[in-house]
Amino acid sequence: MACPKACAHCRNRCPTRRKEADDSSDRLGAPADGGTVMKLLIVEDEAKLADYLRKGLAEEGYVVEVAGNGIDGLHMATEGSHDLIVLDTMLPGIDGLGLLAALRQSKQTPVIMLTARHRVEDRVRGLKAGADDYLVKPFAFSELVARIEVLLRRAAGAAPAPDALLLSLGDLQVDLARRRAVRAGQRLELSAKEFQLLTLLIRRKGEVLSRTEIAEQVWDVNFDHGTNVIDVAIRRLRGKLDLPFGHTLLHTVRGMGYVLEDRSS
Ligand code: CA
Repeated sequence: MACPKACAHCRNRCPTRRKEADDSSDRLGAPADGGTVMKLLIVEDEAKLADYLRKGLAEEGYVVEVAGNGIDGLHMATEGSHDLIVLDTMLPGIDGLGLLAALRQSKQTPVIMLTARHRVEDRVRGLKAGADDYLVKPFAFSELVARIEVLLRRAAGAAPAPDALLLSLGDLQVDLARRRAVRAGQRLELSAKEFQLLTLLIRRKGEVLSRTEIAEQVWDVNFDHGTNVIDVAIRRLRGKLDLPFGHTLLHTVRGMGYVLEDRSS
């Protein structure tokens, strides 16, 4: 859908998204200028409001599709690929709540519901049915834009990059998603506490961690100087992590604590 303002507006206001207006391939959500063009679906039967939102959101740099009733809306939401849906509650065909319930069978696309002021129960039902946010009509366009941005940011943050879940040091790899540690191709058989301890150390690799900090982070307790639980756990971890491989990664720093680092390089 072309930008209705012929895009001089977009160019001025929205440098990271300006290509979207010029290049039709970008309208399919392809990266533009290193960013990603977000695609929105508006399901709204009031034609004037739908048109107003479509134009306004296109000017904000979004690719916008509009459905004028619940049946089209459900079809487009299910078959298409949208980053976010703005969903009116009162719709011909299938109403907003019905559409949302059907959509949630297969998709978790973020949804902002538009509700009438006097229908508080719709908001509650909407949130229960899986809406991520709602706006009461009439609303300020700027508020809608702000809420869309919040939800898109939240959705982007919800799925951490695979890299963030895979930590490595030398020939050691720690896979946080699978809760697995591998050294030189061999899987380490660690207890839950040992895995937590190793995760802390590798997240902060090269940094000396005191016993107190380790106790707080792994055992969630304040360190009692009378206990040697940390030293025992470190010794056990060493036995599995370093001993079989003949090359030490876990070092004691006398009087300070422990550090995980590869000193061979
Ligand atoms: Ca309506």
